[in-house]
This record gives sequence, structure tokens and C-alpha cells, in this order.
Amino acid sequence: MTTVTLIPGDGIGPEVSGATRQVVDALDAGIEWEVHDAGILAIEDHGEPLPAHVLESIRTNRVALKGPVTTPVGTGFRSINVALRQELDLYASIRPCKLFPGVPSRFEEIDIVVVRENTEDLYEGIEFEHDSKEAEKLRGYLKYMRNYPLAADTGISLKPISVTATKAIVEFAFQYAKRNRRRKVTLGHKANIMKFSDGLWLRTAETVEDDYRDVGFEAMQIDEMAMWLVWHPQDLDVVVLPNLYGDIISDLCAGLIGGLGVAPGMNLGREYAVFEPTHGSAPDIAGKGLANPIAMILSAGLMLRHLGRPAEADRLEKAVGKVLADGKLRPADLRPSGDPATTTQVAEAICTAL
Ligand code: NAD
Repeated sequence: MTTVTLIPGDGIGPEVSGATRQVVDALDAGIEWEVHDAGILAIEDHGEPLPAHVLESIRTNRVALKGPVTTPVGTGFRSINVALRQELDLYASIRPCKLFPGVPSRFEEIDIVVVRENTEDLYEGIEFEHDSKEAEKLRGYLKYMRNYPLAADTGISLKPISVTATKAIVEFAFQYAKRNRRRKVTLGHKANIMKFSDGLWLRTAETVEDDYRDVGFEAMQIDEMAMWLVWHPQDLDVVVLPNLYGDIISDLCAGLIGGLGVAPGMNLGREYAVFEPTHGSAPDIAGKGLANPIAMILSAGLMLRHLGRPAEADRLEKAVGKVLADGKLRPADLRPSGDPATTTQVAEAICTAL
């Protein structure tokens, strides 16, 4: 038996997590679950969004499967997703975007892997509220140092990019490409505008590239990459991005393969791994039984592969493929012609197809 920490999440989290658990249990893959809450639900029971025992559980089991967790906008606690990634040094987020036959899309074939740096950039949370003493001091310092004329009501968020984290993620992308026999790595940046963050990212990547001559490499401005992705997505293969661009581009890629409901993901570090769908807690459909569980089920497939159970992962992916190709039963987000299938119906159909 392998014990995995399961964080069901909130919003649609418990619905898609329940469906995923049902499918993994039906595979009889020797997985047992240690279930913990995080976010709002953990505050209700333990007074904090990411209690120490949740981190402890992941550190012990080394692997977690996580549903989406709501982050309050503007105020309240910091994103527990970001906190988890930083606490466990989950420096690489990988989002494979593969189009399954039968899923409505503008394209016939899509197979892109987004590799996103997960620990720094604007997500590091170094922020100064516009009317705080710290922001006033920082504005004064910037004016004194470099004569930057910031308005007196300017809020500030910092974008740190380091050589160390860049090297780690770019090396990860090349190794992933090699291991999975991919054609090339495309690095996104905006080095012409942000010379000391994106510029450093680009220059550092170019030094790493020298060690991987057998994998193709190109660098592309992020705006140009957005254009290529919706024009000729087949031209892109493995895409490596800093944190914020990675967040945006992975949602864009999810849109190419049928939407967030079918887009899985994983966060990998040197010691721990957390598997989770790309989507959030979808408060607009929570509790209605309409959530598509496939993104989380496919995330569990990635987890099974990581845990050395490739046969079970293959069975899971084939069963998902069968249900999607069959097309008789489609959840609401995949635009069915008839009545949408519920979360439970999708899970049951996948279990039957195993
Ligand atoms: P979202 O991904 O929750 O929803 C965006 C849209 O996609 C909504 O219309 C939603 O109904 C739809 N959608 C998402 N998942 C779906 C599914 N499985 N099936 C069918 N439709 C689905 O994004 P949001 O509304 O920007 O975020 C809601 C909350 O989730 C926020 O608090 C955000 O911070 C959080 N969030 C958490 C994670 C995470 O836990 N990893 C990731 C992203 C967002």
C-alpha cells in the first residue's frame, strides 16, 4: 500500500475529489488516502488555512493529490497553493495539454507541455499597499536612488527572478523533454522590457541550453508565444515559463484542449510532489453536480505514473479517452448536445470503462 495525502479542497473540490477517489479505488492500485482540509475549511476547524499537520502529512507521504482551494481576492489569507509550493519547494509545475479525440476544440491535434517556474516571480508575494508607510518609504528610496517618479498613491509588487531558480526550471524542462522524447523546448520571456528579471531569465536559460544540444531550443517573447498558441499551436512542444506567464499560458493551453475541466497538472520538487488540476474551485457551479472531474482524474493518472504504477495510469487514461471519444456522456463544460452528465455519472462511466 502507498499512502497519499488527499486534500479535497473547497467549492467543486470535494465533488471532483470524490469522483477521482472512486476511479483510483476502482483501479485497485494499492493507494490509501490520508484526508486533510486546507484553506477556508481548515480555518473553520483549525484556525489557520495551512495547518502544520497538513504539511507534515505531505512530508511523510511525499505525495499529495489536491483539489482546488479558494483564495480570497485582495484581502484575507495568502494563497495556500502558493504557500504549499514554497513550503515544499515544489519548483516545477507541469501541465500536459493533450487533446483527447471527441473533445470539442478548434484544432485536431494538440500536444503541448507547459513547464512553469513555481516559486518566485510576482507570486513571491513581496507587495506594498499603496497607502502604507513601507510603500511611501520604498517610493522615496526609488526616487532617491534612480529618480523613478512614482505617484504618491502607487502600490508596488516586486518581481524577483534568480539565476538559481531559472537554472533549476530550465534544466527540468530539458530533462523532461529528453525523458519524454519531445522535439524542443520553447522559452517565453519579455526580456526587452524587463531586462533584469526576464533578461536574466533568458540569459541564464541560454547557458543551460549549451548542455542539451540534442533537444531543440528557441526563445520567444511571451506576446508572440500567445499569438502562435492560438494560430499554430502544433508548432509548440515543451514550453518553459516564469511563474506568472506560466499561469496565464497554461489556462490558454487548457482552452485549446477543451477547457479547464480536462486540464491536469502536477507540482514537483526535489523531495515532494503535489498533483492537482489546473482549475480553481469554480464557485459558480459548486454544489450543483456539474463539475467535470476529468482534470482531477487525469491528475491522479499523472500521480500513479509518478508512483511507479504505469499500467494503472495507462488504464485510467485509456478509460477517460474511451468515455470522451464515445461522446454519449458529456459534462456541461464540454457542451453536450443533450442533457449534461453529472460529476458522478462521468466518474461511474470511467470506472465502467477501466
Ligand atoms: P476557476 O478555474 O475556478 O473557474 C473558471 C471557470 O471555469 C468557471 O466558469 C468555472 O465554472 C469553470 N470551471 C473550472 N473548473 C471546472 C470543472 N472542473 N468543470 C467545469 N467547469 C469548470 O477559476 P476562478 O473562478 O478564477 O477561481 C475560483 C477560485 O479558485 C479562486 O479563489 C482562485 O484563487 C482559486 N484557484 C485555486 C486553484 C488551486 O487550488 N490550484 C487554481 C486556480 C484558482
